[in-house]
Amino acid sequence: GTKRGILERLDDGEVIVGDGGFVWALEKRGYVKVGEWTPEACIENPEAVRQLHREFLRAGADTMQSFSFYASDDRLGKGENEADSKFTRINKAACNLAKEVATEGDCITIGGLTQTPTYLSGAGKKATQEQFRKQAEVLVNNNMDVLLCEYFERLEEIEWAIEVCKTFGKPIAATMCIGPDGDLMNNSTGDCAVRMVKAGADIIGINCKFDPFVCLEGMRKMKAGLDAAGLRAHLMVQPLAFLTPDANKHGYTDLPEFPFALEPRLVTRWDMHRFAREAYEMGIRYIGGCCGCEPYHIRAVAEELAKERGKLPKGSEKHDMWGQGLRMHTKTWVRARADRRYWEELRPSSGRPLSASMSKPDE
Ligand SMILES: [Zn+2]
Repeated sequence: GTKRGILERLDDGEVIVGDGGFVWALEKRGYVKVGEWTPEACIENPEAVRQLHREFLRAGADTMQSFSFYASDDRLGKGENEADSKFTRINKAACNLAKEVATEGDCITIGGLTQTPTYLSGAGKKATQEQFRKQAEVLVNNNMDVLLCEYFERLEEIEWAIEVCKTFGKPIAATMCIGPDGDLMNNSTGDCAVRMVKAGADIIGINCKFDPFVCLEGMRKMKAGLDAAGLRAHLMVQPLAFLTPDANKHGYTDLPEFPFALEPRLVTRWDMHRFAREAYEMGIRYIGGCCGCEPYHIRAVAEELAKERGKLPKGSEKHDMWGQGLRMHTKTWVRARADRRYWEELRPSSGRPLSASMSKPDE
């Protein structure tokens, strides 16, 4: 219809606010199986997936990303016949849920695909690309506006995925789950950016595995890599909502608290405000979240950039931007916290006197 496409919006300098992490949010709510992290909830509990989409929309998201993480055929397994396989049913349902809620706003739909067991098994390029082709086909047949290759640890595999996506004629976004120290095959973060663009991605960047500020360190390296190569691309970042200054190049998975005790590391909405501002100033225009990011984290991004976007998210009038509603509080010292600077300058306590601030990553 008349909806403006993602590249049109980015070319015009608009900010795109992404959504948050479905796998983590829905695992905590009891809809995703730990360890598998696959999106069966799309067919088992569609109401839970739909509601999370709605909450991200209300928080200001401009995109609805299909909940199709790890939903490649080699990971999900086949049903009795191809037409009705679990793989097809889950991906189709994921697209329909994203589309349904996208029409309730002015959202772009994004069909996501990720790294595969086939690649890791060493089966080679042809077999791996066959997995990507199958999944991209379902996402495109179900009318996703954009294809997103996300959460890739190895440059070679995401290049193969981008090549396949390229054959479908949709805008392509590509984000690797790497930090400033490069991928797991010893490619530098800057080289990863260059090669994703050369493979055909329109929007590139980083998602998951590292906190907002470590991701921005990585994005700085990506930008420098592109500049040095004389290449241009739109930039995108979707970090964890957990602080990981102590992570090694494998990110949060090597932290001893992964995955069931990361809560003391949770970023606050104020951290997200600072992240959104720094990302914007760096020239990144697609700013969202990954694991741990709940709708209120996304709302913080949308509110921080409200002036640039010319709008506030729907939930803002309820929670009262910058805590202004606290002026109603009965205690004077709590009323005094109705102030942006108070929250920006606060160093929140963890409430855990025996905890260290940093861990030593396992290997
Ligand atoms: Zn994630």
